[in-house]
Amino acid sequence: MIAGHWSVVVAGGRIAGATTAWALAPYAENVLVVDASQATSFWPQQSTWDREGNLLWADLGLLDVVLACGAPRTYGHTLRVDDDLVQHDYPQQDEYSYRMTVPREVLDPALLRAAGSRSNVTVLRPARVTDIASEGGRVRGATVRHDGADHAVSCDLLVLADGRLSRNADRLGAEPYQVVPSPWVALLAYFADLPLRSDRGYFSSQPGSLAISTPCGPGQWCVSTDMHQRLIDESGGHPARQFTRIIAEDPYIGPAVAAGRQISKLGGAGKLRMQRRPMSGPGWCLVGDAGYHLDPVTARGTKSALVAARIVRDRVAEIGGIDGALLDGLTEQRDAALEQDWVVAAELCQPAQVGS
Ligand SMILES: Cc1cc2nc3c(=O)[nH]c(=O)nc-3n(C[C@H](O)[C@H](O)[C@H](O)COP(=O)(O)OP(=O)(O)OC[C@H]3O[C@@H](n4cnc5c(N)ncnc54)[C@H](O)[C@@H]3O)c2cc1C
Repeated sequence: MIAGHWSVVVAGGRIAGATTAWALAPYAENVLVVDASQATSFWPQQSTWDREGNLLWADLGLLDVVLACGAPRTYGHTLRVDDDLVQHDYPQQDEYSYRMTVPREVLDPALLRAAGSRSNVTVLRPARVTDIASEGGRVRGATVRHDGADHAVSCDLLVLADGRLSRNADRLGAEPYQVVPSPWVALLAYFADLPLRSDRGYFSSQPGSLAISTPCGPGQWCVSTDMHQRLIDESGGHPARQFTRIIAEDPYIGPAVAAGRQISKLGGAGKLRMQRRPMSGPGWCLVGDAGYHLDPVTARGTKSALVAARIVRDRVAEIGGIDGALLDGLTEQRDAALEQDWVVAAELCQPAQVGS
């Protein structure tokens, strides 16, 4: 039964939505997660994090779930700048001192399964939140479209985790208060059986582009590029052709890719806009890209989603239950926690800093 009252309704069931549903469930009577995607969708967005991310997963009680995804831990990377190679080893502060990348097709279902394994969490997929109901200046519910029918639900808290293009955030009037257009086009594909180390990543910074290979599963690597739009415009070709060229010409990834095999389509995104929206209001909050979208060039989207999920969880824990009226002040808290991440990513998006 979908219609009726829920303590929490979460729109979006990927990193941000599944994690928030998992984290709020102990404080809620019941939680409904509504996700619009198909279980089989290819999701050409990476998920990468470092020690800080590991600490966040652990704090949220999800580190075991994430580790069970089977991605190798990396303890350093090689950085190639033009033709110079520099080795970076990550400082070994504690047991969390490693970096990890998990394909979204593995990570997101694992997180959603974990959330759905809570006895008071119901997952509806594919389904979509198509409208928001407010009363007296406070969000009171939503319309959920499932199997061609609309269902009116009421809730104490509506969590929007429906990604950077969230139409529901627009419906709420949670307009972005800061926007930074990005000149980067990010593309990626997954490969198997590359003759590369599985405990180290590789970054190659060349004029106008960055090529990356990261171990992401047993015998699997994510190979990605960030390309400046100018590079694509000047070449006049499709970004996929530039991806192939950059990877083939790289002295480390090129021969490896030629020896291995591609196991996914190539995909990605361009013409992105970093944006920050208010994080909460009466009866609602935004987590993940819906409220805070960082350009992928710094690979900090996962961290920002986890930070927001933790902030909501901590506030709800402080209140002692789900009361959507008491979520004020979260925007400042989130922005302070992620300020450094915003500054670094925004700087990389400035015309003077890129494509040189
Ligand atoms: C090309 C690319 C590369 C990236 N690389 C990295 C990286 O290396 N490291 C990193 O940490 N981050 C990276 N990111 C960023 C990272 O992918 C995002 O920060 C992350 O996906 C945000 O997760 P999310 O759960 O907020 O949103 P999403 O992953 O976008 O999920 C939103 C979900 O909401 C669903 N939805 C949409 N509308 C509705 C609706 N109305 N009702 C219900 N459900 C709805 C969607 O179907 C989707 O399932 C990359 C992003 C891109 C585009």
